[in-house]
Amino acid sequence: MSGTGVTGRAVGRFVAVSPGSVTVEHERAGIRPLGPGDVRVAVLACGICGTDLHLWHGMRLPPDAAYPVRPGHEVCGRVLEAGSGTGLSGPRVGDVVVLHPVAPCGACATCAGGRGELCARGRILGIHEPGGLADEVVWPASRTVTVDGIAPTTAAVLADAVATAYRAVRIADIAPDAVVCVLGAGGVGTHVLELMRALTPDATLVGVTGTERSAERLHAGGFDAAVAGDDLVKRLRASHGSFDTVVEFSGAPAAPAQAVRLLRPGGTLLFGSVVDGPLTLGPAVALQSRELVVRGVYSSSLSDLRDVVHLASTGRIDLAGSVSHTASLDDAADAFRMLDERPAGLVRMVLTTGAGDA
Ligand SMILES: [Zn+2]
Ligand SMILES: [Zn+2]
Repeated sequence: MSGTGVTGRAVGRFVAVSPGSVTVEHERAGIRPLGPGDVRVAVLACGICGTDLHLWHGMRLPPDAAYPVRPGHEVCGRVLEAGSGTGLSGPRVGDVVVLHPVAPCGACATCAGGRGELCARGRILGIHEPGGLADEVVWPASRTVTVDGIAPTTAAVLADAVATAYRAVRIADIAPDAVVCVLGAGGVGTHVLELMRALTPDATLVGVTGTERSAERLHAGGFDAAVAGDDLVKRLRASHGSFDTVVEFSGAPAAPAQAVRLLRPGGTLLFGSVVDGPLTLGPAVALQSRELVVRGVYSSSLSDLRDVVHLASTGRIDLAGSVSHTASLDDAADAFRMLDERPAGLVRMVLTTGAGDA
């Protein structure tokens, strides 16, 4: 940050999270200066993700981040101002954009290899840098994707819930007739199923949920569904045999070992849950003797985000059920509490600033 350009103009609200506390505060420091290549964005809508709840519960922060955190990494907004060097290819003032939540350093070997989203020195929106649960956010123009014809509340969830699911689908790279199980078919997991169906309509897709009601929702959406439990492997074996790929987004401690038992020889477990504890896969011989592949899935790349924006704006993916709840930014504390209670029917909560109503 250049440190110049602080005008003292009031620039509105932001959410601050510390362990056990969520508050909506008013900016006192004045307008944040734009660095070279940055854009200033008026937030229209920002989703609340499981990571934000973890922040509230007091998760261990990555290096260079500290409480109180200004959360929000699932952002759709309108460009208010573009800094120097944003270039002809960058978004223009007035464009509606979604933000890729990682700003890579651009200089390390990971970045040079084209994997900027995995950059160890990357700055994460809403963790290292002030996030989008706010009236305004400043972010590199190069980490934005212009959206057209998608409602802001829906566009917001493309940035994380949908793009992360798409990343899993891309890595899974399933055969047209694959048999796939998604453990934890909630926010991200349901999008994995939706995207796989859009891209590989002949695959057999089974979603595993925590409750009967969620299983009914999946079933109504045209997917095979089962409810998690100790005898899950037995039930799925009886109904579907073995699986080419199992995608784990449930975060349940027992799920990875169940996934291993569900896989056919040579099958792949994709692990996308954010879990602090150890990964328990069961007997080593079950992996070794069947040459199973276990692979992590983390966030998404900028090109993944571009792809999901394209899929959504051309109507190839149906996001009608992606946002179940919306609330005002002013009600952030209530929204966090409600999310934490995991009420039935909750898929994604998105907060709006009212800027889109003007
Ligand atoms: Zn997230
Ligand atoms: Zn880097």
